[in-house]
Amino acid sequence: MAERTGKRIAILALHIESNRFAPPVGRADFEEKVLLYGDEIMADAAREHPRMVGTMTGFIHAMNQAGPWTPVPIVNADVGAAGPIDHEFFLELQAEMRERLEAAMPLDGVYFGEHGAAVSTEIPDPDGVLFKMARDVVGPDVPIISTLDLHTNISEEMVDATDALIIYRTNPHVDQYERGVEAAGSMHELLGNVTATTAFIRLPLVAPQVTQLTASGPYGEIIDYGQTLIDDTVMNISIAGGFTYGDTPQNGMAFLVTTRDDMATARRICRDLAERVWNYRERFTPNLTSLEDCIAGAVARGEDHTTPSTIIADVADNPGGGGRGNTAWLLQGLYEAGAKDVILGVFNDAALAAEAHEKEVGETFEASFNRDEPDQYSNPFAAEATILALSDGKIIGRDPGSRKNMSINLGPTTALQVGAITVIVISIRQQCIDPGYFENFGVSVADARTVVVKSRGHFRAGFLPYFPPERVIECDAPGLTSPNFENFEWNGFKRPIYPLDQDADWTPPNW
Ligand SMILES: [Zn+2]
Repeated sequence: MAERTGKRIAILALHIESNRFAPPVGRADFEEKVLLYGDEIMADAAREHPRMVGTMTGFIHAMNQAGPWTPVPIVNADVGAAGPIDHEFFLELQAEMRERLEAAMPLDGVYFGEHGAAVSTEIPDPDGVLFKMARDVVGPDVPIISTLDLHTNISEEMVDATDALIIYRTNPHVDQYERGVEAAGSMHELLGNVTATTAFIRLPLVAPQVTQLTASGPYGEIIDYGQTLIDDTVMNISIAGGFTYGDTPQNGMAFLVTTRDDMATARRICRDLAERVWNYRERFTPNLTSLEDCIAGAVARGEDHTTPSTIIADVADNPGGGGRGNTAWLLQGLYEAGAKDVILGVFNDAALAAEAHEKEVGETFEASFNRDEPDQYSNPFAAEATILALSDGKIIGRDPGSRKNMSINLGPTTALQVGAITVIVISIRQQCIDPGYFENFGVSVADARTVVVKSRGHFRAGFLPYFPPERVIECDAPGLTSPNFENFEWNGFKRPIYPLDQDADWTPPNW
């Protein structure tokens, strides 16, 4: 092959975090986000503002810098957090990946930029299926490495089919690019003489998503401790917090220690990490504020400007966890209580945004929020609203975390004044992770007394300059991503599991 210079590395990704309680997604949903084939992947990685997640661009950039190689871009399918992937579409995607991998043989390595918390409408572990498919195609000797979101649910199949799994170490995720770069480094090692050996433990512990921050707290502590053990033998230590709402048999905090062919060391460290966490498992308890108290606090701040402004995270309606971004419990409560100087974003309602776009800035109309999807997880609300701004919703991310510099498309967007509340209404579902989601539409975050964001935790990086951790409140409202486990009917977990089963037990493996 004339163009063959350097190693031939396949690049592919299914990037979805599936909330089993949310509506399924198919090809059209992926196309609306990021569905790229072949050379489109390399073209996107070369853009100033790529659409792919940072692990993909980090891997590609690092491989480019390290010297001649032959990238074999296959498929990048990224829909972010959503519901289960439609099984028919998953089978199509799997077939496309397999065909393209087979056509590309011989390959020297395979890189997946996976999220790791996919479920389909029929199976609990599409990620494991894809890794195994790749292993079947390339055979036992070709290295397969995947990066994974820290909210991955790790199955035995995922571990068995790959040589190394490299998980983000930050939440909010600010190290995606670095992990992609790390994966490229590991790929070079495995293309040389190094054999990766991994120990894996999964605890019967589903840590509520709001307890998985890494700047401090029980999860951050164990990640930081793990990093002190990296040395010439230990290549990577990855600790998956997991994604509760996947509701799968592979749910549970997971520990992966990858060594340069030293299984005894991998096992010793893996067991140490898991035991430490199991011994303090009761620390993974959410600290939520009731809806009533959130509203009362906002009313008080609107009256008394000597108190510090505060941000309320509507953690139960987090589009970054598969929420629809359209519950109105906080909006309605704040409106009816007469809370002042409140800004709320981003409310996902394409019908409402479209209606506003048929009108002019300054017009007043009866705004019907969430007319299309009211159900047990999401209430509707209507009130008179005045249009403050209209936009196509195309912005560049500036939050220092996961979407900095990326092209972000919110779809047709409007800023509405509803009582003393300014609401940003968007048309393409997103979590509100960046002050730019307000400020691009003329709404000041600095001047608000109360900011409400539909996000579980990723807003913390971007909004940190305005709101240090002590001025963040997590609201116990209803919704598809409520950290209040009593709001769901779980049927996928292996039971018993903590904290649903307080008497759940775990015995370390007898290695
Ligand atoms: Zn995540």
